[in-house]
Amino acid sequence: MASLFQRVFSRRSMIAIGLACALTPAAVIGNAYAQKAPDGALAHVLVLATGGTIAGSADPRAANAYNAGKVSAEALIASVPGLDAVAVLSAEQISSIGSQDMNDKVWFDLASRIKAAIDSKEINGIVITHGTDTMEETAFFLDNIFDTDIPIVLVGSMRPSSAIGADGPANLYEAVKVAASPQSKGRGVLVVLNDTIQDARWTQKTHTTSVETFMSPNAGPVGFVDPATIRYLAPPLPRRASLKLPPSPPLPRVDIIYAHANMDGAPIADAIKRGAKGIVLAGVGDGNTSKEAIDALAEAAKQGVLVVRSARVGSGFVNRNVEVNDDQLGFVVSYDLNPQKARILAELLIANGVTDIQAAQKAFAATW
Ligand code: ASP
Repeated sequence: MASLFQRVFSRRSMIAIGLACALTPAAVIGNAYAQKAPDGALAHVLVLATGGTIAGSADPRAANAYNAGKVSAEALIASVPGLDAVAVLSAEQISSIGSQDMNDKVWFDLASRIKAAIDSKEINGIVITHGTDTMEETAFFLDNIFDTDIPIVLVGSMRPSSAIGADGPANLYEAVKVAASPQSKGRGVLVVLNDTIQDARWTQKTHTTSVETFMSPNAGPVGFVDPATIRYLAPPLPRRASLKLPPSPPLPRVDIIYAHANMDGAPIADAIKRGAKGIVLAGVGDGNTSKEAIDALAEAAKQGVLVVRSARVGSGFVNRNVEVNDDQLGFVVSYDLNPQKARILAELLIANGVTDIQAAQKAFAATW
């Protein structure tokens, strides 16, 4: 793993932006003291760009037709007035994709670069610009593999950079502010959009088009940010132990099976044929499905497939042994994790050799 990290680090050159601004007096922005290191210098924030609508360009008269990921990291930063007074910035392009195309390869590249940045001890915060479609998945993936005090903040936008009322510049400003702030230390991976700060474990995209889309239905935001202030609602929670990444992608295959009325066991049998090492049920209600599908899942579990019951509902918890006898059938429940996050945790657990039902269940419960 170390050599992979070193290779990626040396391949990408750091572009220092606004170095002269390191000497900008703190008083030019509200609450700038929060960004200042004890020695008085501005925090150094590394911006890693992956694409998404925040880097999308469009004809401003047709804000719905655009190409995600067209605007470079440097151009994004340059488009935000006053950012150079919040932190000393470096920017790098990791990928230029819409996040519907996010994949293990980009995740591993991102993880490598973040690890190198943390190891360098020269970075106070990291901002990742990202499409909103799978932002919660990347945030949760990173949250499970990094055990660091350094703030890692994902940011995106719902409108492309050239749209009327583009939300990207304000979101990026606030994300850098959050990443640069000592108040954000030890809070794991965060998501910042629309003046709210969300925890990677709890947040999810909840609206297809509105700028008010990232919510944490089971917990609420962990804080609020505006140009003048950052307000966290509670002290940082204890962090979970991090899981290791295998030396190279892909992660073990885990499929999500979406439950519905009139459901049979065929999609589950198909997933096993495709080589799934784990199956996450996006179940009805509290993670339930038809008798036929439950039988197929029980058969999968018998064959050594990690079966996790989650819910398609969007909020609430899936608890063990309520309507389904998990102990008897050999299932794990996802508690608060939605299916897409349960899939990532299952992949990481399998990659780390954690397939025993009790141990896997404990990992799903780690913060509760
Ligand atoms: N499809 C885009 C993406 O996720 C949407 C967005 O960024 O809001 O990359």
